[in-house]
Amino acid sequence: MGILRALYLAVINLVYPANCPVCGAGLSPFEDSPLCPDCLRETCFIRGRACAGCGLPLPEALPAGDGFLCGECRMTRRYFFRAISAFVYEGPVKELIHVFKYSGRAYLAGFFAAAIADAMKGRVEVSGEEVVVPVPIHRARLRGRGYNQAGEIARRLAGLLGLKVELKVLRRLTQPAFQVGLTRSQRRENIKGCFRVADRRTVKNRRFFLVDDVYTTGSTLDECSRVLLRAGAESVIAITAARDILG
Ligand SMILES: [Zn+2]
Ligand SMILES: [Zn+2]
Repeated sequence: MGILRALYLAVINLVYPANCPVCGAGLSPFEDSPLCPDCLRETCFIRGRACAGCGLPLPEALPAGDGFLCGECRMTRRYFFRAISAFVYEGPVKELIHVFKYSGRAYLAGFFAAAIADAMKGRVEVSGEEVVVPVPIHRARLRGRGYNQAGEIARRLAGLLGLKVELKVLRRLTQPAFQVGLTRSQRRENIKGCFRVADRRTVKNRRFFLVDDVYTTGSTLDECSRVLLRAGAESVIAITAARDILG
């Protein structure tokens, strides 16, 4: 190895962690994915057909048209117009999101934002007027974590799409005790009243891309959408890095 190349790699490795955050395998500095090739292979992208309402991946064999809704979406009224996710929340991506949230690796947001922008192609029209907003986290949690993971994705996604990002349109008033293990309707009740629009003038007649890291039951995204619409928003599309298909 030439001395220049060795120097170059040393510098690159200082800037970018050289190991896959999921399995620890060494990463080539010339790859732009934070996942190693093996983990990337095991990652389930939602690229094929998906529910036109909630973004749930559907079997390719299903003889259904473009506007096909899953069973739940036919039964449920939601405030967001539709939801789109880049990955299924399982395997390496599930672990990567955990690392992203709790290990201070905000740079991983770039990977998620790029995957989301890709997933939006052909599914959502972007006029250039939409505003990207993250699902906010509570101040206390923000202090502990240092950043809002949804805000980091939202900023980068807005950059990729050439849209405006508003990090403070929505405010989180309280953090519900615990959402895990609750039924869908309990989650819905639990999250009610947790968000508020900081300034209605920034919301009125605008179309929003509402961003979060994971879509679990959709209740948090739906409550944020409700609050935005009530403040005068024209429409909300929920956009997440990953979709929990068991939620
Ligand atoms: Zn790996
Ligand atoms: Zn659905």
